[in-house]
Amino acid sequence: MTSSESGEWTVRHVLAWTTGYLRNGGVEAARFEAECLLSHALGEDRLQLYLDPDRVLSETERTRYRTLIQRRRRGTPLAYLLEYVPFRDATLRVDPSVLIPRPETEELVEAVIRDVATSGTPPHRVIDFGTGSGAIAIALALVWSDTAFVAVDRSPEALALAQANAERNGVDDRISFVCGDWGEALQAPVDLIVANPPYVATDAWADLPPDVRDHEPALALAGGPRGTDALAQLVAHAPRLLAPEGRLYLEIGAEQGAIVNDLLMQTEGLIDGTIRTDRAGRPRFACARMGA
Ligand code: GLN
Repeated sequence: MTSSESGEWTVRHVLAWTTGYLRNGGVEAARFEAECLLSHALGEDRLQLYLDPDRVLSETERTRYRTLIQRRRRGTPLAYLLEYVPFRDATLRVDPSVLIPRPETEELVEAVIRDVATSGTPPHRVIDFGTGSGAIAIALALVWSDTAFVAVDRSPEALALAQANAERNGVDDRISFVCGDWGEALQAPVDLIVANPPYVATDAWADLPPDVRDHEPALALAGGPRGTDALAQLVAHAPRLLAPEGRLYLEIGAEQGAIVNDLLMQTEGLIDGTIRTDRAGRPRFACARMGA
């Protein structure tokens, strides 16, 4: 390799041209993503790229990086390529068998924790329906050390990943993993049900970003004609599963506030039904409680 060739393969140079390549491929945060993928390929911290911009990539590193960049340009979400994502205090492994945890779901978890903190003691038993990567159950288990969780999912692959994530975060002794459907009656009654179910309406499917539509699991996204199939089932099963004063928290689509509010109002046993907004001001969470 001549010195001019090695100059082509410095961190600085490689980042400059792959940023352009990703941007042309429609990746908005192209520079950031190129940095994440390069540090992943090098097995280093992102900061290291700035500390040593003249570092020359080895052939193995180039090959590894090229593969990542090509997959990203073809639409694979960044999180699947990096394999790990932060979620509140947890670090979660993700792969295409699970939805990539979203900031809105972190907001849902925050709301649950805040409400519980103001109302008294942490719940004894919690169900996380459609747990996916285990995000909700694991994040809550890291906060409440005496709570028992049941994490339910229809996908055995997702459950295996969620279990590994629970182990990684040191909370597997308090979470049981169950392959099943909405409303699976396990160790009921429980004090809290939390879920981020699939809620994308059939008509909205075509409008999803291609990264999401073509790469994330449809099982975790597609919610039937109006997007409310799973939400309706969760609301319907809640009175049977919840203890007196038990709480229900659901993530919903921004268009579904009115429908879900009606469901909460019509369901015998549930009281104090409310729809709450996310930081962006969109109605994204439904909450209710069982009467005493
Ligand atoms: N927020 C997700 C999206 O549209 C949908 C998640 C879900 O259906 N639970 O990208």
